[in-house]
Amino acid sequence: MSTFCEDDTLRHSQLMSGHQVTIALKVDVDTFEGTRDGVPQLLKIFERFGIQATFYFSLGPDNSGKAIRRIFRKGFLSKMLRTRAPSMYGLRTMLYGTILPAPFIGKQLPDVILSVKKGGHEAGIHCWDHVKWHDYLSRFPKQTTYRELDQAGSLFNEILGCQARTTAAPGWTVTTDSLELQDSLGLAYCSDSRGYSPFFPSMEGKAFKTLQIPSTLPTMDELLGENGITPENINEKYLQLLRPGLNVHTIHAELEGNALSKTFVELLERLAERNVRFVTLAEAAAEFGENAPTCELRMDYVEGRAMPVAMQGADCNRLC
Ligand SMILES: [Zn+2]
Repeated sequence: MSTFCEDDTLRHSQLMSGHQVTIALKVDVDTFEGTRDGVPQLLKIFERFGIQATFYFSLGPDNSGKAIRRIFRKGFLSKMLRTRAPSMYGLRTMLYGTILPAPFIGKQLPDVILSVKKGGHEAGIHCWDHVKWHDYLSRFPKQTTYRELDQAGSLFNEILGCQARTTAAPGWTVTTDSLELQDSLGLAYCSDSRGYSPFFPSMEGKAFKTLQIPSTLPTMDELLGENGITPENINEKYLQLLRPGLNVHTIHAELEGNALSKTFVELLERLAERNVRFVTLAEAAAEFGENAPTCELRMDYVEGRAMPVAMQGADCNRLC
């Protein structure tokens, strides 16, 4: 059995003042084309700005086309139209797993995944099959949840030669089974939730031991098209939402690494002007996870997203 991946990014960490605005960039990589095209583009952007980030990979089949089944869910179609999903994601991706066969991301693009580690960034597991986890996790028998994590973990290990230290669930979708299985993997931390600060989750009365680093900011695709927000003014909104201390921003290789990369670069330029400090999620866990409270975690709806997400509750207990 191999050892956990070393966290190279911690070396770059510097002590911060408690009030400095710090951003951990969490990169979700959902699709084959996002891995092939979006990841290299983001690596170039991060190199230009001297940023280290955390990338979460989907390693199994890209069944993005099957997401069309969500059309029967309230809010899905309007979100697709609002975010111009077909032009953002590309036609092939919209057909993978339906009339086009699903490409196998980890098997076909191992070098891209390896390049993230070589570039000094942190790599973790997003999932095996993104659409399957996102749409059906709540109905999975525990064995299926285990298999999805196990297959992703094995291929991650094969590509990078070490075990992942962190996972982040597709669409912030969790169950008590998935949290329990994550606990059994001995991970350093996970990032499956939306919330305001690092915490240990308690769900349906069960407490779990793996630290959660929640995403604190809305994603670009949640904000765009709502309340008059456009690619031209969205960065103003992000600057307003930042607060002192840790902010965790989830971006997508498919969007910020592709159709929205110009807007994302402009955001980074404006953040650089303000001396915002960037960290990986591992650094965020090390610096902000100490003495984290236990907080309730529940599936709930956020604005701009058709499916419920795991939300950090306000009800927290700090252990003495
Ligand atoms: Zn995702």
